[in-house]
Amino acid sequence: MGCTASDVAAAIRAAALVVQEHRDELVRLDQAIGDADHGENLRRGFTAVVSKLDADEPDTPAKVLKLVATTLISTVGGAAGPLYGTAFLRAAAALGDAAELDSDSVARALQAALDGVVARGKAAVGDKTMVDALTPAVAAAASVTGSVSALLSAAADAAAEGAESTVPMVARKGRASYLGERSAGHLDPGSRSTALLLRAFADTAAKS
Ligand code: ADP
Ligand code: MG
Repeated sequence: MGCTASDVAAAIRAAALVVQEHRDELVRLDQAIGDADHGENLRRGFTAVVSKLDADEPDTPAKVLKLVATTLISTVGGAAGPLYGTAFLRAAAALGDAAELDSDSVARALQAALDGVVARGKAAVGDKTMVDALTPAVAAAASVTGSVSALLSAAADAAAEGAESTVPMVARKGRASYLGERSAGHLDPGSRSTALLLRAFADTAAKS
């Protein structure tokens, strides 16, 4: 069974809820190695996304993701706004005007999202950013055959592991890099939010 625009919108609403529930945690993570705004930035952005979905839900998966992208770009700010915005925009472009998603198109969309984040932020694995969560997630998605739900679940597991792997890293990109060696010993907030978003998508796919 494929995922329609309304399934994708449901996944985004679930992600918004998870971001809200984890707002304070993300603030604390960013307080340790940044400027303490990541949780509030994302909460504000996803709240705006849900308002727009409530007002007028788009009729293709790509249009839903494009709405997410443009809203995050205009409301989130900081490094994460443009990076997540680019990720959702590239994912939307990879889907074209398909009415439904399947596991192949979801895997392609994840790869496109990662490519967009890397094109925009120039971070590599090991730099202590969201790329450390998204890269293993994309690899896991590419190696799974089966349902969208199985694919997203594998991606979410890999992202969570990838986020944990940032703890000992010294940041080489973004605000945390200003701390140099002192950035080690803390989990990167953007890698945590990436893992949370993917888990919310996977949980939604598992229910539909
Ligand atoms: P800011 O750093 O501007 O305050 P946020 O706090 O919202 O923005 O987001 C910080 C997160 O953005 C970091 O934890 C990291 O995961 C991610 N990030 C920062 N710079 C980059 C980059 N160049 N490439 C990928 N991700 C990045
Ligand atoms: Mg910050």
